[in-house]
Amino acid sequence: MQAPSATRGVATSPDDTLAAPHAQAADDVLAALASSPEGLAPDEAARRLASHGPNRLPSLAGRSPLGRFLAHFNNALIYFLLAAAGAAALLGHLVDAAVILGVVLVNALVGFIQEGRAEKALQAIHELIAAQAHVLRDGRRMQVPVETLVPGDIVLLEAGDRVPADVRLVQVRALRIEEAVLTGESVAAEKQAAPAPAAAALGERHCMAYSGTLVATGQATGVVVATGRETEIGQISALLGDVAPLTTPLLRQINRFGTRFTWITLGVAAVLFAFAVLVRGLAWPEALIIVVALAVGAIPEGLPAVITITLAIGVQRMARRNAAIRQLPAVETLGATSVICSDKTGTLTRNEMTARRVDVPGGAIAVSGAGYAPVGRLTPEPGAENAEQRLADAERLILAGVLCNDARLHQVEGEWRVVGDPMEGALVALALKAGLAPEALRRAWTRLDAIPFDARHRFMATLDRHAAGDCRIFVKGAPDELLALCMAQAAGETGVALDRDAWAARIAQAAGEGERVLGLAVKPVPAGTHALQFADLEEGLCFLGLVGFIDPPREEAIAAIAECRAAGIAVKMITGDHAATAAAIACQLGLGDAPRVLTGGELDAIPDDALPGRVAETAVFARTTPAHKLRIVRALQSTGAIVAMTGDGVNDAPALKQADVGIGMGHKGTDAAKEASRMVLLDDNFASIVAAVHEGRVVYDNIRKVVAWTLPTNGGEVLAVIAALALNVAMPMSAVQILWINLVTAATLGLALAFEPAEPQVMRRRPRPPERGLLTPFLIWRVAFVSLLFMAAALGVFFYSLGRGDELAMARTLVVNMVVAMEVFYLFNVRFLHMTSLHWRGVLGTPAVLAAVATVVAAQLAFTYLPVMQAVFDTRPVTFADGWLIMGAGMVIMVVLESEKILMRRVGKRYHRGDRP
Ligand code: ATP
Repeated sequence: MQAPSATRGVATSPDDTLAAPHAQAADDVLAALASSPEGLAPDEAARRLASHGPNRLPSLAGRSPLGRFLAHFNNALIYFLLAAAGAAALLGHLVDAAVILGVVLVNALVGFIQEGRAEKALQAIHELIAAQAHVLRDGRRMQVPVETLVPGDIVLLEAGDRVPADVRLVQVRALRIEEAVLTGESVAAEKQAAPAPAAAALGERHCMAYSGTLVATGQATGVVVATGRETEIGQISALLGDVAPLTTPLLRQINRFGTRFTWITLGVAAVLFAFAVLVRGLAWPEALIIVVALAVGAIPEGLPAVITITLAIGVQRMARRNAAIRQLPAVETLGATSVICSDKTGTLTRNEMTARRVDVPGGAIAVSGAGYAPVGRLTPEPGAENAEQRLADAERLILAGVLCNDARLHQVEGEWRVVGDPMEGALVALALKAGLAPEALRRAWTRLDAIPFDARHRFMATLDRHAAGDCRIFVKGAPDELLALCMAQAAGETGVALDRDAWAARIAQAAGEGERVLGLAVKPVPAGTHALQFADLEEGLCFLGLVGFIDPPREEAIAAIAECRAAGIAVKMITGDHAATAAAIACQLGLGDAPRVLTGGELDAIPDDALPGRVAETAVFARTTPAHKLRIVRALQSTGAIVAMTGDGVNDAPALKQADVGIGMGHKGTDAAKEASRMVLLDDNFASIVAAVHEGRVVYDNIRKVVAWTLPTNGGEVLAVIAALALNVAMPMSAVQILWINLVTAATLGLALAFEPAEPQVMRRRPRPPERGLLTPFLIWRVAFVSLLFMAAALGVFFYSLGRGDELAMARTLVVNMVVAMEVFYLFNVRFLHMTSLHWRGVLGTPAVLAAVATVVAAQLAFTYLPVMQAVFDTRPVTFADGWLIMGAGMVIMVVLESEKILMRRVGKRYHRGDRP
């Protein structure tokens, strides 16, 4: 794809432009944009924002509301109903025709409104996870919403970031960017700060990072040269169509079922029509009306809309519990989740690090204090002979920790907070406790180059030059990796030869106490060195010692893990940390007393065919890389598990995509990880995953309830019509009356089920087997049984009324009221699929249930007593005594239904394991 403009202007103020920033030196671009390496002042940024407008792409015009409304008429059922209305009109049944049309309209309107609500709910969730960018303003690093970026802003980019605007790169470290969205090139492009030729095509402008592309590796700083629709992507307006489809596998299954059902119904209707005319000898218009009644009764018009809204309510409830759904199908899958694989740091633990020990060659030093406040001391163990030496060595180690570090501490309302990585923040606090001045040290040393931390190599290195000219490489990272790098260490800076075994024992001791252990090393290099390569670390590194941090488990994670255990969900911790640290934290979290630990190295040695078994029985995976995560997910899935997996780094994306529910971290996650996920945790908290699983189960239950409640209505009506035809008696309900029942009850009672709260035992059941369809044998039995019950009650009332000499219209009015009353009672029964409804919570209902019942009662009163309705629906006023009769019959049916529940649970326990819950 070629750029639409090779030399587009860049506005710094409305009337001053900068052409082709890729062809100019970075300093010139900075000058032209009236910016500097320290960034803009906040008030200048605000001024530019006012004049340039937000850094937002114009959204593609979605379907117009009218288009969305009309789409609701585009299905077989509606065609059929329209044809029926036409036929009724032709036969002179104008009222019937009008009612059918009215129902079609109301149905489309309800669908339209509910779909709109669902879309809005999803949209709101997308805004919750709006992207953030890291910028420098007045020399201070801060996080701001991407929308507030302006030309001249200095942005910091690192692996996993989505580039937030068009940026002229100023400083580049091993930066590679995936630009496929813009150039179609799938290999990540290497970047550098030197200018490119003016005529370079978009893909060859190696000093530019374009909005919407993804940082694959490395780090950079750059100056924003274009925002919003001024960016390259804004000009070609691609990328924007990623509105998530409002559908899920379940919804598709139901829609398919609905379509099939419609055609079957039409077939049956045709046969019945022939039967009525040829066998029963009815006049064809009369037969047609019967057939229309049957078809109208059979088809669950409102079902898809109610299910969509059930899903949308689930999404909203999950968002309230800090789980933002990015893709609707995740709502369903969450309910079936059987394994949760979670990162440790920040998800299971609080990610609030405090250094507790410093270990130098001469021995250990205890560190006091809590949190990031610089209050505490370094104390060698009492009586240590070499205390002075230890403290001097500790200072050297802490210097490395402060320089090989990007975090800063600052005080907000008296509380010390970290900007950047918490462990690095804890190193700054450690320096303050040791009496050093980290900011002064950072001013005295200038960073020349760096190798950023990456979960694959587990260390970070910087090349720094002291004001006096002295140059050093500082490295911090997983101590085992560092010891391997320091293999060739002679008696260097510390004057002590490296004793690997002794260090390994000290690491094991700290890790065994649950500490996160970090190693530090240094290497002097010749003055004048400017660049840092991996090869520079291969020899000459001198191991300085260790720092042990505590990062306490989250209390709520402990409770959530216990909840998972009760719910039959396995929890696995997958961490890059040391095996002993992982095991100790797992113990504290309740993942087992002596949980099995597999390290990344051990995983590599297990062949593919043996892996599923080993992975299934292991609770803790340590020293893993993102590639291991992918193997673990696949192995678990091959055992039939439904796997939820968390991730934050750019390299986690494949595992997140592979998992059934990939979960990105809202705070510490990269854009790449979030975009690969189906759900994003707003608080990075494990407990929120479990809350989402809980809500997922509730949503699935509610969908089952909606189906279990809706289908018998249709079934009962159809059976009543067929029975009447078979018995050669008048129809117990007219077509429009059937439509009335379906409409008034689906939009009220059916919808109330979408708002149902959780049943008490929802997290005490095993996960739903994924292969189990919605219509389980139990549900089919339920639908059949209740349909028969409804038919029996409807016909019972009908014949009773006719038998005592009522006119047909009166008998039909009673039947309609009977069916609606049964629906109300059945609603109370179905609210608890897994236990009896005869308890206070069941009887009192919820506000949604009560409102629905009140509406239905009001509608039925109008239907029965309002003259207009009497004219339209041909109804008659019901006497007080008959009203009681109907209520009494409803209660009897409730008792029958509850008895069936008890009976079926007993039978189910014996025969239907897994189906009958
Ligand atoms: P999790 O995957 O559970 O979040 P983690 O955060 O412990 O685990 P990584 O971030 O992969 O896993 O870290 C692995 C190891 O790398 C840590 O134990 C630590 O020793 C080291 N490490 C982590 N962060 C840094 C950093 N910023 N600089 C240097 N080393 C680091």
